[in-house]
Amino acid sequence: MSTVPVQPPDLPSTSISFSPSQKTGVVGYVAAIAGIALVTVVLEPIREHINSTTVALALLLVVLFVATVWGMRQAVLASVVGMLCFNFFFLPPVRTFTIADPDNWVALGAFLVTAVTAGHLSASARQRAEEAEIGRVEIERLYRELQAAFERESHLEAIRQSEQLKSALLDAVTHDLRTPLTSIKVSVTTLLDETDPGADFALDREGQHELLQIIDEETDRLNRFIEGLVGLARIEAGKFSLRRTWNAVDEVIAAALHRAESQTRRHRIILELAEELPSVRVDAHAIAEVIYTLVENAAKYSPPETVIAISAKTLPGEFVQISIEDQGIGVPVEEHEKVFEKFYRVASTHGTDPGHPTSLGLGLSIAQGIVEAHGGKIWMTAGYSGKGTCVSFTIPIGDDEPEGPGHNAGTETDSAG
Ligand code: ATP
Ligand code: MG
Repeated sequence: MSTVPVQPPDLPSTSISFSPSQKTGVVGYVAAIAGIALVTVVLEPIREHINSTTVALALLLVVLFVATVWGMRQAVLASVVGMLCFNFFFLPPVRTFTIADPDNWVALGAFLVTAVTAGHLSASARQRAEEAEIGRVEIERLYRELQAAFERESHLEAIRQSEQLKSALLDAVTHDLRTPLTSIKVSVTTLLDETDPGADFALDREGQHELLQIIDEETDRLNRFIEGLVGLARIEAGKFSLRRTWNAVDEVIAAALHRAESQTRRHRIILELAEELPSVRVDAHAIAEVIYTLVENAAKYSPPETVIAISAKTLPGEFVQISIEDQGIGVPVEEHEKVFEKFYRVASTHGTDPGHPTSLGLGLSIAQGIVEAHGGKIWMTAGYSGKGTCVSFTIPIGDDEPEGPGHNAGTETDSAG
């Protein structure tokens, strides 16, 4: 059987107890009487040598002090006690409550009114200060609550985003790893079967070479994919550091075009460089990677024999703008921003093709990471001639060190790509 504890009923306490505010109130009344008494005791023996105004001011001082520290009620008590002492000890005839001179009635009345008014004023000033303090404490509390709620919410949002990112990554990785792996597996199995002594058919040299070529291309593709992922992860983790040095813009462009030679062999490259381009303080390797990515896209998504134009000019405000324009299939306007998202591929570009052999949807997001780490911007527009695509980016010339994550200018560590 369970027992239920019985609470003793609340009995009224026999001893009188005061709350802290009541205690300070009582102290105030005592202090009011004691203060007036002290002033009276000190001034009474020298009454002959001082005039009644001095006495009134000294008593008033006590009233003000009491009002400021304890409040209105204590100040009224001090005023009344002060008035009585003023009358009894200082206004002739002394040691009586009678007043001979009518002027002294006026003085006494003036003292009482002044004391009560001044007491009231300082007490309400004190109350206002207290209210302001309560308001301040309340605002601080609300602010802290708001901050805590905001932190909780953004933490949840961060978790949600990272979950979304994880599943998007998994989808993309599964697809992009499986396709080349399947090709490699099929090629290797065929080659193995063929080298089996009991095999009843034999591939000619050309057939063998073709399969080996597939393996070669697909392993390259896998390698590129892993490199892209690692580069992107590094940019996103803020571990992407720049090795900034002063570089001529045309040299950086030339290095990128040299790298893209095999992809652009069937296109017509046009260079439009403004005169007197300034040097820029950038990570030359990383910026060349951006230009290479854009030129590679231009070549990949436009037919052979069309023009790819690379232009560079100075912008007001110490920026250089580089644009890569092609005459290809173009990207619908509503997707001009989305192409910078990772793994994003424009459906109309790829059609039903499960993926261009080297199309991962990572190039532009990596390029954006690099450009933004330099303190610049990157965007896509339609080609100026009305067809094709133009991708432009800006980079600061580089007098000022940009701040913020990823802008570890001058640190000697790896850059992506
Ligand atoms: P990779 O990671 O190998 O570069 P990708 O080229 O598909 O793959 P991004 O460079 O990021 O990836 O480009 C994203 C998508 O934007 C492309 O798949 C393509 O659909 C579209 N795109 C990019 N550049 C152009 C262009 N110049 N013309 C037409 N479409 C383009
Ligand atoms: Mg690309």
